[in-house]
Amino acid sequence: MIVQYRMKRFFTIVVLPLMFSCLWVLAVAQQPKSRPHVVVVGVNGMEWDIIRPLLMKGQMPSLASVVQRGVYGKMRTLPAPNCPKVYTTIATSTSPEENGITGFIVGGATARTDMLKKEPLWSILSNNGVTVGMANVPATFPAMPVNGYVVTGMLTRGKGCEDGILCSPKLSEVKGGEAVYPPSMVAELETNVGDFWIDCSRMPTAEDLKGKEAEAIDHWLQQVSQVRAQQAKLFDYLLSHHPTDFTMFVQSCEDRVGHWLYPVQPHNVGYSPNLHAVRLEAFPEQYRAFDQVLGTILQHVDKDTYLFIISDHGIKPLREFEESRRGRSSGHDHGGDTPIIAKHDFADGDDVPGAFIAIGPNIKRDVRLMGFTVSVFDIAPTILNLYGIPQPAQMKGRVLSEIFEAPSSQPAKSSAR
Ligand SMILES: [Zn+2]
Repeated sequence: MIVQYRMKRFFTIVVLPLMFSCLWVLAVAQQPKSRPHVVVVGVNGMEWDIIRPLLMKGQMPSLASVVQRGVYGKMRTLPAPNCPKVYTTIATSTSPEENGITGFIVGGATARTDMLKKEPLWSILSNNGVTVGMANVPATFPAMPVNGYVVTGMLTRGKGCEDGILCSPKLSEVKGGEAVYPPSMVAELETNVGDFWIDCSRMPTAEDLKGKEAEAIDHWLQQVSQVRAQQAKLFDYLLSHHPTDFTMFVQSCEDRVGHWLYPVQPHNVGYSPNLHAVRLEAFPEQYRAFDQVLGTILQHVDKDTYLFIISDHGIKPLREFEESRRGRSSGHDHGGDTPIIAKHDFADGDDVPGAFIAIGPNIKRDVRLMGFTVSVFDIAPTILNLYGIPQPAQMKGRVLSEIFEAPSSQPAKSSAR
């Protein structure tokens, strides 16, 4: 009897719970693990010199809330950085010479996705079953098929783009390729978002400005506000109705405004009181407005989402004195004859670093990255690593393991540059 009882008790107290706990462990292990949720917000030309005072004054509350919860700092960019080539390096972790997108114009033609020689991040993610959503990412025209959707960005061709550089076609005015993948999504976007501008407005010409500077500035800034409002509506719609594992959106008006309305002083090259004493707040205002767009995006970012806020480069007042000494123009390759006061395609890209800010479940909090620890080459390997996808041999960057609390628990091994 005693032996029987002891056996029964042993079975009840030890064996049964052990069996249940084993079954539970097996059940949990067999559950499909949900993929990480990653949102990348890109800004064309986010300038720390302008943003840091605004953060100090509490005028970018959404960005401040992100900075406090994550890691932040400068991001090393390419020499003579511009948007198409840097965003393509971000996407492929290869140099412009390797990936084929060396600037706005490649071999006499506007850069297009069919010139790409290396597989971009969104294609690698798609091929690994990760759902992808993208809007307004530069140099993504014509839209490539992905496991999700694409709305193209800067360098989309269409009405008013005949000179090959920057233009701003509306969705209905796109020519020479698809701006939306899948094409069936065009009608849905037109119904729910409207006929939006794909990219920020072209800068006014010298002729547009002559003798009517204040009026032309105000008119142009109003259009920029409309473009940003449409972009915010588009992002909100896509996040609400087409959630994807990986989502990337880019803003482009900040850079455009900085080129000719950077708040410069009389000692700066190209200073003209008619232009530069009129709307001193125009450029900082772009970042206050960006902060509101970020606030909209943050409504879709929960505690389990990784959020990366990045920029391809900063922007600074003209300073490259070697250009005039060597007889080169200090112009820029955005096209047109707008009298520019600031630019970013300086020979030394370290003059105009980009920005890097990241938050996420296991990302360190309130940590400033000093110097140039992060490079534009490191974004794609770091994002692939979050999904446990090994870094392809083409990629020159590294996984930013130092931004995570527990690097050893990362799903894939980091490979050094
Ligand atoms: Zn620019």
